[in-house]
Amino acid sequence: MPDQISPSFTAMPAVPATVGESFEKLSLAPAVLANLRQLGYLNMTPIQAASLPISLAGHDLIAQAKTGSGKTAAFGLPLLGNLNPRGFNVQAMVMCPTRELADQVTQELRRLARSEDNIKILALVGGSPMRPQMLSLDHGAHIVVGTPGRIMDHLQRGSLTLEALNTLVLDEADRMLDMGFYGEIAAIAKLCPKKRQTLLFSATFPPEIGELSKRFMRQPQEVKLPELHAGDKIRQRFYQVAKDRRLEAVALLLNHYRPVSTLAFCNTRQQCRDLLQVLREQGFHALALHGELEQRERDQVLIQFANRSCSVLVATDVAARGLDIDKLEAVINVDVTPDPEVYIHRIGRTGRVDQDGWALSLASENQMKRVDAIAREIGTEVEWHALDELQPASRKPLLPPMATLQILGGRKEKIRPADVLGALTGEAGFNSAQVGKITITESTTYVAVDRSIAHEAQRRLSEGKVKGRTVKVRILAVDGEARPREYVPAVKRRDA
Ligand code: ADP
Ligand code: MG
Repeated sequence: MPDQISPSFTAMPAVPATVGESFEKLSLAPAVLANLRQLGYLNMTPIQAASLPISLAGHDLIAQAKTGSGKTAAFGLPLLGNLNPRGFNVQAMVMCPTRELADQVTQELRRLARSEDNIKILALVGGSPMRPQMLSLDHGAHIVVGTPGRIMDHLQRGSLTLEALNTLVLDEADRMLDMGFYGEIAAIAKLCPKKRQTLLFSATFPPEIGELSKRFMRQPQEVKLPELHAGDKIRQRFYQVAKDRRLEAVALLLNHYRPVSTLAFCNTRQQCRDLLQVLREQGFHALALHGELEQRERDQVLIQFANRSCSVLVATDVAARGLDIDKLEAVINVDVTPDPEVYIHRIGRTGRVDQDGWALSLASENQMKRVDAIAREIGTEVEWHALDELQPASRKPLLPPMATLQILGGRKEKIRPADVLGALTGEAGFNSAQVGKITITESTTYVAVDRSIAHEAQRRLSEGKVKGRTVKVRILAVDGEARPREYVPAVKRRDA
């Protein structure tokens, strides 16, 4: 199973669809440029084009960038530029929220560093034993990439020292804060030399990011990008529907394209409710996001969608505002929005640098004026397709790959992701590939596990211990199934 936070990218990346700016514009060594060409990086992604001139000039940087936008090179190139390969101390450190992300960054940095001989890059992540990491550190590494907890561990034992550090990177800073790493990050930053370059990447800007940057960065420059990136590969298709077949058509699209995660936009709340009912009746695992949800319910919906235990999130534009989720396989416009800018905003939720995203729209005959307005805004004719082209790609129902276990107990109980992972992979006997995203809130912990092991995992966790304590565990249902009575549903008012 790939990492649930962001799928790993092993295939050779495709060149971004639109012509961007070339790396040649930057002051990079010829060997570095040659290596980028070899990797197939012909043009910079938007975040790279916006941030590299600043970071390569040595400035501190705060950049807003989502998963899949090409961040690793955006911090990797300046970090490698600061490096002295003859020095044998750790000169650069990248902090990431999870082990999987740290491993991905490590691999990508190794590819970027190929033009230099003998640059040692080491991953310091939890879940693997300390000793080999300590030995590797002893042999000398130029760059370390790790999770805050494990880095802190090494610092406390003295196996890692930071006197020679010249670049500090915080990757996916908002995620790290969500996971409760503020204290570790602050403590680690304090141990770094004052004279250094700090680069911070985050998809959103909660207030703690401002606090972090005020405390630990020197006159950082900020880079933010408009929603729809030139590098995003979004395939847009329009389907004409009769008004009364609109909701069924959504199910046809899902069965045909079979995206893992889909955001379905409705124009009204009533349409959200109706669609949710239709989808659930057909066996889809769908949840709705609307203004009537309490904060806790909203959190639960988003957690389940982000960790891939819910296939479809149904939402209005208002409810989806400020939603921080990775790029999705598909966005469905259940109805055509009267505002073309809203259309652009909606479809910007799909399509990564290296992976196609689908933007599928259902339009009834009386909505053609709206479609024309959209065509003008995007600057091309829209592509029409017929609903009868849609064939179910499989007879099996479309199910999400994961299921969410809810554990009573969270930050208050000092539960950390490593405790949960440890409980599942230790005593319970699962392997870490079967465990997805772990989210810890004040009093509750959510962990995504492979759908096929959900029941067994719930049973074994309930019988075992997490952080030395017995815990209550239940499976969150997102298909409207009957649930145990004590269960508090994610969508309480499913007033269908
Ligand atoms: P992020 O860290 O923002 O999620 P990555 O740095 O992992 O994104 O990059 C996502 C994918 O895009 C990777 O497969 C990477 O190799 C590829 N990529 C990055 N920059 C470029 C580029 N300039 N041209 C083509 N592909 C790129
Ligand atoms: Mg990354």
